[in-house]
Amino acid sequence: MSSLEWAASALQAFDGVVQASTGFRSRVGQRHMAERVATTLAAATLGKPRNDEGDDGGNDPADPPTRAIAVIQAGTGVGKSLAYCAPAIALALARNARVVISTATVALQEQLVHKDLPALAKLLPQSFRFALAKGRGRYVCQQKLERLTGTAPELGQGDEFEAEDPEDDLFADQDAGLSVRPVRPAHEVAARLQFYSGIAEALASGAWDGDRDALDTPPAAEVWLPMAADAASCTGKHCPSFNQCVYYERRKTLVGAQVIVVNHDLLLASLGNRQLPELDNSLLILDEAHHLPAIALAQFGCRMDLGRHGWAEQLARRAVRVGVRFEVTEVADIPTHAAQMRQALQETERLVMDLYGYALRAAVDGPAGAPGRGAARARLPLGELPEVLQGPLGRVAHHASGFLDALRVIAAALRAEMRDQPAMARKLSTVYAQLGALAPRLEQTLDTAQLLLRDAAPDAVPTAKWFTLEAHGDQATLQAHASPLLPGATLRHQLWSKVRGAVLTSATLTSCGRFDFFLRESGLHGDDAATTLEVPSPFDYATQGRLIAVETRAEVRDTAGYVAEMVQALVRDLADVRHGALVLFTSRDQLRQAVEALPPALKPVVLLQTAMPRTQLLATHRHRVAEGLPSVIFGMQSFGEGLDLPGKLCESVFIAKLPFAPPDDPVGEARAEWLRTIGRDPFSELVVPATAIRLAQWVGRAIRSEDDRASVYCYDKRLVRTSYGQRLLNGLPPFALTTRRAGALAAHA
Ligand code: SF4
Repeated sequence: MSSLEWAASALQAFDGVVQASTGFRSRVGQRHMAERVATTLAAATLGKPRNDEGDDGGNDPADPPTRAIAVIQAGTGVGKSLAYCAPAIALALARNARVVISTATVALQEQLVHKDLPALAKLLPQSFRFALAKGRGRYVCQQKLERLTGTAPELGQGDEFEAEDPEDDLFADQDAGLSVRPVRPAHEVAARLQFYSGIAEALASGAWDGDRDALDTPPAAEVWLPMAADAASCTGKHCPSFNQCVYYERRKTLVGAQVIVVNHDLLLASLGNRQLPELDNSLLILDEAHHLPAIALAQFGCRMDLGRHGWAEQLARRAVRVGVRFEVTEVADIPTHAAQMRQALQETERLVMDLYGYALRAAVDGPAGAPGRGAARARLPLGELPEVLQGPLGRVAHHASGFLDALRVIAAALRAEMRDQPAMARKLSTVYAQLGALAPRLEQTLDTAQLLLRDAAPDAVPTAKWFTLEAHGDQATLQAHASPLLPGATLRHQLWSKVRGAVLTSATLTSCGRFDFFLRESGLHGDDAATTLEVPSPFDYATQGRLIAVETRAEVRDTAGYVAEMVQALVRDLADVRHGALVLFTSRDQLRQAVEALPPALKPVVLLQTAMPRTQLLATHRHRVAEGLPSVIFGMQSFGEGLDLPGKLCESVFIAKLPFAPPDDPVGEARAEWLRTIGRDPFSELVVPATAIRLAQWVGRAIRSEDDRASVYCYDKRLVRTSYGQRLLNGLPPFALTTRRAGALAAHA
């Protein structure tokens, strides 16, 4: 079939689903989006190039594969999940490929897996299977659990592999890196053991399926991590528990699925490790795509401990013991590599404290309650590493690399022995896990040292580099960090180079009415394969909604005066709320002041985000509105996105202040600094576009259906009084706009 025929049949599948579904109305925007999804994904060449023998792949190596990527902003109410699912799945089935749908939030994953895909499976003529893919770390590792509960075969005294203290495993995450493990009270050790025994019993009896998310109360990270599956300590098919392994059982469901739902974190973490289907033979959909750049930055940064490296000695000891047993010649170098690496880390630590210790300590030791107390940061301007640090960091990288090479040879020898001596597999997998538990720290050390040493060529984009000092009781931890500066460059290199056909969608991809910012951030700017499409919402915003800009007398930079005036005006407007409303604050302090200013009559009406879990709060809100009572949610950033409160549940949205997020994280700071040095304006280029996306999300809480009528109040006069405010307005729905003085009555609006 030609790509045109494929696209036509995919669109036909979409039309068929719309016609077959009861209650579905044909929507022009939705069909327009489905059409773009179909033509884009049909145009992409899938599969490996045909090899010299002429088999497989379907595309000729002389003929470069066609890449096609659609960036689609679909306004609220377009029905985008059907617009991408139906054509993409029909195409994948026709082309013997798979669809990978990636989201940013669990809520959307659940909606797809429990609602949208089951409904679609009933309507598409071809049957298909779908599955949810979670990261390995969400599942229990039975081998680890056996060791934690003392049911694993013991490596005893005189054994060829000596026993380690079981407490090393029990508190592995908390004690990581300490040279000497702290002595813990017996009751603490007993409680931990009891927890793991209870978990093991629940797993054995079938009361629990091994998925962390299925536990009533998910355990804290330091309790979960010692029992969680992880790649470094897993021997896969050589593991004695392989046939019952929860993680591998779940993976089997993915093998037979044509549609796999993942999240952006897992998608990016899986690049190159074959946890997910090959992207060059899959159709990729990224929903909630506006989150992709930030998630990519978090994913590709790295860090290492400079002060706590007891793990290196422990790892060397374990590796030598195993290496000697298997006569691995590289083992001879391990003690030197470990000792030299630790020495270089110590030297780096001393030099960093000489260079930046004064500032770091001042912040950490500052007076109680002072901002920054307990943690401090020193960033390297323009990512330039002081010369004095280059030598020791070079040695860290050199010895970490040599150590890692030797470790890989030992791991391969261990796996070979497990294959040849199945009777020993149980014991050997314990040994393997002991090495694997610490190996990721060595990898992190190598990655971080290499990134810190990376020198930007003149005119090239620098790397963000910084050190942190954190106080834990009377101990302080010094860490070195490095991160790429631009998410786009990293995504282009790591993701888009592997993708053939993709759709990126969200209700907020344009910023101030343009796609440029998102295209740059996501690495698609200037990519010939990428096209953009804006599908407007079917709602009549001009009639359904109004935007009231409330102008305070005080300037916003006069924080005390502004907040006092804003709170006064807000409280007066809240008195008019008859049903559901949402108030969004940009700081806890504003929220606290607003709560304190509430008159007695309004206090019981308000539900605080900080006072109860989200699901409970929303259930209470729905109940009150259903009873005909007024109910007002006071929330912050996280309530500005993903909240679906149609009709009376949200007739008014009150925005206390424009949601600016100045780049105060180290990567944002480094990026702003770099832009300034090359004569560009970070406020205009970064801050305003990012704020526009956030504000559009906040305002988007107001109108959720074609029957909704709602008002949005914004108490920040910069929206109507500044040129950047005008840019922000361009990115909002075309509501009827009015302005009003903060002191004037709401009825004047
Ligand atoms: S296969 Fe890997 S994850 Fe599964 S039980 Fe064995 S070691 Fe753990």
